[in-house]
Amino acid sequence: MRLSNSSISTRRRGLVIALLAASWAYCAGAAAQTLGKADQAVLKAAADHRKPYLDDLKSLVEFETGSRDTEGINQATAWLADRFKSIGAQVELIEPVEANTYRMIDTPDKIGRMVKATFTGTGSKKILLIAHIDTVYTKGMTLQQPFRIDGNKAYGLGIADDKQGVAMVLHVASMLKSIGFAGFGTLTVLVNSDEEISSPGSREVLAREGSVHDAVMSFESTGLGDAERVALATAGIAAVELKVEGRASHAGSAPERGVNALYELSHQILQMRDMSVPSTGVKLNWTVAQSGSNRNVIPAYATAVADVRVLKVSDYDGIEAAVRERVKKQLLSESKITVNFERRRPPLEVVDTNRKLATQVQAVYAELGRTLAVGLQAEGGGTDAAFAALRTKAPVIERMGLQGFGAHSNNSEYVLLDTLEPRLYLATRMVMDLSKGLGL
Ligand SMILES: [Zn+2]
Repeated sequence: MRLSNSSISTRRRGLVIALLAASWAYCAGAAAQTLGKADQAVLKAAADHRKPYLDDLKSLVEFETGSRDTEGINQATAWLADRFKSIGAQVELIEPVEANTYRMIDTPDKIGRMVKATFTGTGSKKILLIAHIDTVYTKGMTLQQPFRIDGNKAYGLGIADDKQGVAMVLHVASMLKSIGFAGFGTLTVLVNSDEEISSPGSREVLAREGSVHDAVMSFESTGLGDAERVALATAGIAAVELKVEGRASHAGSAPERGVNALYELSHQILQMRDMSVPSTGVKLNWTVAQSGSNRNVIPAYATAVADVRVLKVSDYDGIEAAVRERVKKQLLSESKITVNFERRRPPLEVVDTNRKLATQVQAVYAELGRTLAVGLQAEGGGTDAAFAALRTKAPVIERMGLQGFGAHSNNSEYVLLDTLEPRLYLATRMVMDLSKGLGL
């Protein structure tokens, strides 16, 4: 179902009414100084882009782009590359380079490519917008839950995480073009295809691009909650994989000739059950274990996995070193233990540059009479914003996307459409402000 023209103009009227209300609040001395000074050209562009945005969002949802579905990703990224070319971008399709790929236990052989679109302007500031096109779903699932609009909600698999974000970065660039703004030096859009498998192939590109830009805005969706928000902190996630090699033997007739890998693993798990550090937010918890093949065989192999969370990138070194030290205290000297410490995602840390950018984002949203909360605690998953922040002092902000719900579920994933025009306005105005050095 598509929105009719009448519902679009109703929306526009709604926004005007909201603005009038905002001016009232300003007269009452309530909110930020900029209130009531919404940029009319951007406001109109946001309204004009509502329908084209929804058309593109529908197309994006209809492409099945599970992280391991290279065929689907190739089709979707080819389509996206064409869309960016049609609005004047210089476009590159970037295949992940094996030498720069961080392989984890679940990394597929073939990793999907990235779309990089570059717009060259007349100014000096370099601004990076990021989003991801892959989803956690497998082929065929979209048919059971196709794109549809019902009232204020647009449904579809991957629509919140993160198809809405891909459509956002496309339409922010498109809005800037339609209002004739090119005051940035470079506006770069990077869309990757491996976020849901912890960005093994794109993390290096994200970090490199982050390091050569003056500001980064990432377009994951923002949760429902009671307040609309953006985020300055995301989770840092690692995993410890322990592999114990022992020696098999008959459990009944010659157990003494075996080396029981399960005993060693149990010892290791128990001696590493207290490695969380509450004062720094470092957490280590054992979550998966496997051993043994037959009741009557002393097990030769055992494995376990721990989930690790950190709030600071620098805490990875400490917890990894502590694990590698502790594991040396073995129960069975003949067993062989290997430790694999996977840094799946760094955390995005709250730093002053990010706070300054967030303050500007709040001021721009106040132009619409809307308030934005700034999330300073990592909630839920890690995101690519942290890779973009890894090697730069430039500010990075996350959750610039629409309000959404149901990411990673297979029922009722949706976005709230009343946040569409405000968020398009916000991101577009932020590119304009950042181009002038505001928020930096
Ligand atoms: Zn996501």
